[in-house]
Amino acid sequence: MKLKVLGSSSSGNCYLIEASEKDKLILDAGINFKEVQRELRFDFKGIQGVLITHEHMDHLKYAPSFALNGINVYASAGTFEKLELKGHRFKIIKELQQFEIGNFIILPFDTQHDAAEPLRIFNTI
Ligand SMILES: [Zn+2]
Repeated sequence: MKLKVLGSSSSGNCYLIEASEKDKLILDAGINFKEVQRELRFDFKGIQGVLITHEHMDHLKYAPSFALNGINVYASAGTFEKLELKGHRFKIIKELQQFEIGNFIILPFDTQHDAAEPLRIFNTI
């Protein structure tokens, strides 16, 4: 499994988790979607979804861009509510409820942060 940092600072966090060509996840959507497109060379084929850890803008700001481009966005209800994000692309996940995205098996934990419902996300394949 490879981890590529697309952005990691208070101005924006975004990571690419790559298990294989077909199995990729984006963790957090805090950098401009155009930048993500450039980093991925406009190849979103293997991107199975975007996981958002919490509602702070440096993690969430560009989540709607992913949804508009047909990519499902996963976060806690508390995270979505803060920004009133709704729609079939926004999938609510809960702490300690394991779920799958493609071949990824994901188990969110709650964590301490000054946010509505932050999740620490552990994933395996
Ligand atoms: Zn934060």
